[in-house]
Amino acid sequence: MDTLSRRGVLALSGGLGALAAGSGPSRAQQLASEAPHDPFVFAVQRSEAEWRAMLTDHQYEILREGDMEWPESSDLWDDYRPGAFHCRGCNLHVYSSEHRAEIDQGYVFFYHARPRTVLTDIDHTNVYTGRADDHRTMIEVHCRRCGSHFGHILRVGAEIVHCINGTSLVFLPNHA
Ligand SMILES: [Zn+2]
Repeated sequence: MDTLSRRGVLALSGGLGALAAGSGPSRAQQLASEAPHDPFVFAVQRSEAEWRAMLTDHQYEILREGDMEWPESSDLWDDYRPGAFHCRGCNLHVYSSEHRAEIDQGYVFFYHARPRTVLTDIDHTNVYTGRADDHRTMIEVHCRRCGSHFGHILRVGAEIVHCINGTSLVFLPNHA
């Protein structure tokens, strides 16, 4: 399954549709250029070779390059069983089913991340229109421990939710 580029178009009216186009700078390049003197380092550090070895190409494009999966392409988007959602990059327990938002638009939606598990970044690519003259920014969300990309915080209808790529998560259903 191909991924959507960060420069892709994401239409939220009537459903999360998408259109791929071009590729942008890598996530590491973006972070370095935006905060060249920031001493922050992620607790889990891996080389590109190590990331490549533990992830499929598709997973690498999502987690390490910030791409977006196609709607309804993961196994998790319509799986509402109770359980824990861990970061595929470092196994941190980042989301829980108790905060799941039942929005059937092809991604995994949550009202909240677990406390102190995610960080945000400024995504300068406007995924709503994809136009260069559209300067609205998106709130990108990633793992605070390994930096892997999860998705975005955005508005769906009247609600602010985390719109997360199922590819970025490992689901551990509760064994009741
Ligand atoms: Zn992580």
